[in-house]
Amino acid sequence: MSYLNQPVTPAVKIAGRQEKFAVRRVYCVGWNYEEHIREMGQEPEREPPVFFMKPPDALVPNGGLIPYPTATQNLHYEVELVVAIGRSAKDIATSAAKEIIYGYAVGLDMTRRDLQAHAKKNGQPWALAKGFDHSAPISTIHPACDIGHPLSGSIWLEVNGKRRQDGDLSRMIWSVPEIIQHLSGYFELFPGDLIFTGTPAGVSAVVQGDQLRGGIEMIDTLEITLG
Ligand code: MN
Repeated sequence: MSYLNQPVTPAVKIAGRQEKFAVRRVYCVGWNYEEHIREMGQEPEREPPVFFMKPPDALVPNGGLIPYPTATQNLHYEVELVVAIGRSAKDIATSAAKEIIYGYAVGLDMTRRDLQAHAKKNGQPWALAKGFDHSAPISTIHPACDIGHPLSGSIWLEVNGKRRQDGDLSRMIWSVPEIIQHLSGYFELFPGDLIFTGTPAGVSAVVQGDQLRGGIEMIDTLEITLG
């Protein structure tokens, strides 16, 4: 009997392709829509984007059931545009950022909001609030060569059929090329990296049994049930 695990590379389905997108890292941007910053009790200022990470094995495929996580009484959804990186780059200019994008997906940045509030108040990292198991549901990835690069379009989320988030990609404070420019100044990006790009306003708590359905116009719809 071995105590060594077999290496497991999380992978996400690609629309219209046999091969899957093997995931290397999951980066996330915090605070990228003004109305969401206000609902979190902050004033939007154009400070550099806030980055954090989730472990790749926190990804959950479309249609999945996610358990209500331990250690929280205030689990929130955040529907987000996810960018899939297809080429390596570091310190890349905004004008060249599109060249490294493989495609786009719809994601949920599930958040233990109570632990995040505690971390913010005490100057602690967000790992427990953001990086827990099953915290990153994601749709199929749609290659940019099929759908182009969405600059605008409705981004929305429904809980049990009721519309809760209703934003537009054009309202992002930091555009996708700007996010890539900043992030690639801190980390060399590689094929397999995903970037969750922040959520519009309307976040709130969900409970066991809730059905979450989020979508982005021209990309996909993502459905998750909270077990
Ligand atoms: Mn988020």
